[in-house]
Amino acid sequence: MSIQLFGMPVSRGVAIGRAVLVASSRVDVAHYFVAREHVDDEIDRLRQARDTVAAELGALQRDLPEDAPAELSALLDVHLMLLHDETLTGAAKSWIVDRHYNAEWALSAQLEVLARQFDEMEDDYLRERKADLEQVVERILRAMSRDPAAVDHAEHAGALGPRDFAGEDPLVLVASDIAPADMMRFKRSVFTGFITDVGGRTSHTAIVARSMDIPAVVGAREASRLIRPDDWVVIDGDAGVVVVDPSPIVLEEYRFRQRQSELERARLHRLRHTPSVTLDGQQVELLANIEQPGDAAGAVEAGAVGVGLFRSEFLFMSRGDDLPGEEEQFEAYRDAVIAMRGLPVTIRTVDIGADKPLERMTVQELRHEHVLNPALGLRAIRWSLSEPGMFRQQLRAILRASAFGQVRILIPMVAHLSEIRLTLEALERARRQLDEAGHAHSRVDLGAMIEVPAAALSLGQFLRYFDFVSIGTNDLIQYTLAIDRADDAVSHLYDPWHPAVLTLIAGVIEHANRAGKGVSVCGEMAGDPAFTELLLAMGLRSFSMHPAQISAIKQRILRADTRRLSSALPRVLASENPQLEAAAAFAGPHQ
Ligand code: PEP
Ligand code: MG
Repeated sequence: MSIQLFGMPVSRGVAIGRAVLVASSRVDVAHYFVAREHVDDEIDRLRQARDTVAAELGALQRDLPEDAPAELSALLDVHLMLLHDETLTGAAKSWIVDRHYNAEWALSAQLEVLARQFDEMEDDYLRERKADLEQVVERILRAMSRDPAAVDHAEHAGALGPRDFAGEDPLVLVASDIAPADMMRFKRSVFTGFITDVGGRTSHTAIVARSMDIPAVVGAREASRLIRPDDWVVIDGDAGVVVVDPSPIVLEEYRFRQRQSELERARLHRLRHTPSVTLDGQQVELLANIEQPGDAAGAVEAGAVGVGLFRSEFLFMSRGDDLPGEEEQFEAYRDAVIAMRGLPVTIRTVDIGADKPLERMTVQELRHEHVLNPALGLRAIRWSLSEPGMFRQQLRAILRASAFGQVRILIPMVAHLSEIRLTLEALERARRQLDEAGHAHSRVDLGAMIEVPAAALSLGQFLRYFDFVSIGTNDLIQYTLAIDRADDAVSHLYDPWHPAVLTLIAGVIEHANRAGKGVSVCGEMAGDPAFTELLLAMGLRSFSMHPAQISAIKQRILRADTRRLSSALPRVLASENPQLEAAAAFAGPHQ
């Protein structure tokens, strides 16, 4: 029977494919595809972890004190029995062989299948055995996470074509939640669409999905429970709708829309080399947001005139304790700079924390054990300043890349003058260390992300220390409205059109323009055509976005007259309903 699910649209277009489920787990599990030649090793990892757990459980049973309750021994028996049950590890092996899932993913996928069977059991006693099964799986996953080979195997992640493991049908990924780091692994992978139960439109998982330019819906609540592996699924990334098991007539309609959307993309793509100039002759800079050096080539191909935001933290995620050192970072930054062929590259220092945890501190740990609200915790520049050695290492790596092209440094989440002073000192020291070591480096511009209301309101003082600012609207909205951007429960209140948000953005643009400092927007608003006229009206002339969005934004810029837009701006800012007012005020012969 066909069902419809509703969530939030993240990335445009229509995807049609068979569902691949990523099960959620209490243990943080990496999901990736293993290359054909590593399948046997992966099965070995699973077998070894199972044997390790069998030995652990055996030892526990042996060491039980005489007076231990009999139930405890019986429980260990049940766990040992589940551990050796072919429906668990035997079936998990099939996921590795048939689908090329990594061992952790295979095991949690099989747990999901068995858990559903347990849920449907009539007998209370048997139904409760699900908890035992989960504990056994958790033990195996933990044993695997202690295995150093896991990191090696993850290196081979995701670079497979669909025929390598799953027949001819296109695949869509369905998950309760996907960590941004996992999403990065899937970036090189085969999925034609994504669905998650949770998440907001500007969560980092959604941002990575958008950068892949494939249809995605987040916050679809029950999706991962209602959708079964291999179900046919339609993802309508424009409307935020998911259709499971569609009827032939619905499928035909969506296939038609899919073709239309592909034609529209091809048409927009023709604009990629057209200069981005408004009707009244205003030049507008369209820059790219990237997550890794490999994205730079796509940015040039999409017509970006530089990188406005290189989210360097993606180099640091999924790494355990082995964070990238100066040399590895230098190579990554240099590669991006070279790939941009002389165009400027804005490298943001690590913005780790909140929904982008390091592996050694998972979101759960951050949220429940260390701090109550990770978005307000040790994040971004706060984290860098708390690890001064690491911070200087990153600054040195970025400065060294400046010998290969135009580099700019961007500091995330600045809120205090003291943070600026400490950053300038660290930068100065990094420069001195490079000079002493005889490493070449050139002049780099220094910029601040304006993404905390305090920074927007203190701009006059902050600007003295920076060459440019970049407005991070994703966080600026989160912190202005006190709405966790990753929390779908409050996503209806996450409102870029809120008058307070618009006042802050307009104020920053005006102030920076007046001071003769560069100002750009690199949050998701810059790549959303719904805001192009508004931002132009505010005086913005530099937009940074996912490469896939550049042509759509350029099309709007080519049709805009900034004089007319600016004259309508006061009406929009003064309105109680700016979105409605903007629709009326900015509409015109060319919009
Ligand atoms: C922002 O906050 O708008 C931004 C661009 O940074 P990030 O999305 O990486 O937090
Ligand atoms: Mg931010």
